[in-house]
Amino acid sequence: MISVEEALARLLAPLEAVPPEQVAISEGIGRVLAEDLVARRTQPPFAVSAMDGYAVRAADLAEIPVDLRIVAEIPAGAGFGGTIGSGEAARIFTGAPLPNGADTIGIQEDATREGDRVRIREGAPRGRYVRPQGLDFTAGEVLLRAKRRLTPRDIGLAAAMNRPWLHVHRRPRVAILSTGDEIVMPGDPIGPHQIVSSNALALAAFVTACGGVPVLVGNAPDDPEALRRIATTAQGVDLFVTTGGVSVGEHDLVREVLAEDGLDLDFWQIAMRPGKPLMVGRYRGTPMLGLPGNPVSTLVCSLIFLKPALERLGGFADAAEPPATARLGTPLGANDRRQDYLRARLARAADGGFEVFPFGVQDSSMMRPLALSDCLVIRPPNAPALAAGGAVPILRFEGSALPL
Ligand code: AMP
Ligand code: MG
Repeated sequence: MISVEEALARLLAPLEAVPPEQVAISEGIGRVLAEDLVARRTQPPFAVSAMDGYAVRAADLAEIPVDLRIVAEIPAGAGFGGTIGSGEAARIFTGAPLPNGADTIGIQEDATREGDRVRIREGAPRGRYVRPQGLDFTAGEVLLRAKRRLTPRDIGLAAAMNRPWLHVHRRPRVAILSTGDEIVMPGDPIGPHQIVSSNALALAAFVTACGGVPVLVGNAPDDPEALRRIATTAQGVDLFVTTGGVSVGEHDLVREVLAEDGLDLDFWQIAMRPGKPLMVGRYRGTPMLGLPGNPVSTLVCSLIFLKPALERLGGFADAAEPPATARLGTPLGANDRRQDYLRARLARAADGGFEVFPFGVQDSSMMRPLALSDCLVIRPPNAPALAAGGAVPILRFEGSALPL
C-alpha cells in the first residue's frame, strides 16, 4: 500500500492540461484562463467626476462661500470642448469627463444653484472627487493571469478591459462507469436484491462542480464480457473513472479484466480509509482512476484525488490549500497505518472558535452522515490518541454552512 501523498503525485504526474478554446465572455464564468489577459482599454479612459456637483478650479474655492457662473452642463457620456475659467463652473454628473481648466468638484450637497449661477459653500483641494485617467488600469497591462478560474468579479474586470472573447481551457471530459450486478439507476426497475446506484450521479455532480463534463457511460454488471464492452465505450475522454469492482473479491473484475484489454496499471491499494482499493493507470491510453464502490469512499477519494486531477487537466494552477485546524469536541483514539478521513460536524465553542465532532459511526456505506458533515478530520497514519481540545487538521466541504 502506498501513501496518499505518493498516490496523488503518481496520479497527477502524467496529466496535462487539455487544449484551450475560445468562448464569449458571457460563457466565461468558472472557466480557466489559458492566456494572460491584457487590458485593451485604460480605465477610466479620461479623468471623470466621482460625484454629482460642479467642476471648478480649486483656487476659486480658496475663500468660501463663492459664487460662480455655470458655463456648461456635462452628463455622463457627454463632453465639453471648452475650458472652465476662473469664476466659472460646469454642472457635472458622476462618470462625466472632467472639463479642461477644472481640477476639483464642488459636490451638489454643498452648493445652491440659482439660474446660471451657483454658490459653493465648502472648499475642495485639487483632485477631490476626481478619478484620474487610468486610476483602475491602463491599456496594455496584464490584469488576469493564465491558469486562473474566472469568478464573477473577474468577468466584470475582463468586460471593463474590453475583452468580449476569452481563451479558456476546454472543460475536461470524464467518462464515469459504475459496476456491480446489484446496481440500478434511480427510477429504473429494481430487483429484490438490488440497490440504487448513488455513485454515478454523485460523481457526475462532482465532476460538474469541479468544472468538468461528466459522460455517464453506464453500469457494467459483474461479467467480464459486459465490463469489457462497456469500458470500450469510454473513448475520447480526458479521464476514465470507474467505481466499484476494484476490491479483492471474486466479483471485483475491473483490474483483472481490463488488464487483459489495454489497462496499464500503475498502482492499486493505498494506505487510506475510506478508500483503500483505489486504482490508477491508463486504459487504452486514457488516464484512468478506479474508485472504490462504497459511496463514502468514492466521494472522499474524489475530493482527495479526482478534484486535483480535474484541476490539472483543466489547466488550473495547483492551488491546494493547506488543511485548516479545529479543536476536537470529543476525544479520539490512536490511528493505525492508514490515513483516516473522518466525517465530522463543526460547532461554535463558547469562545467563538470551532469545535469539531466526528460522527460516532464511520461506516463507508453511510451517505447521510457524509451529506450532513461540514468537514473531514484528517488522521495521519499512526496518529496518537487525542483528548478533547486537541488540534486536528480538517478539510472543509464547500458549501457547508458555518454554524452561527
Ligand atoms: P465493490 O467495490 O464493487 O465491492 O463495492 C463495494 C460496496 O459499494 C458494495 O456494497 C456495493 O454494493 C457498493 N456500491 C458499488 N457501486 C455502487 C454504486 N454505484 N452506488 C452505490 N453503492 C455502490
Ligand atoms: Mg461490486
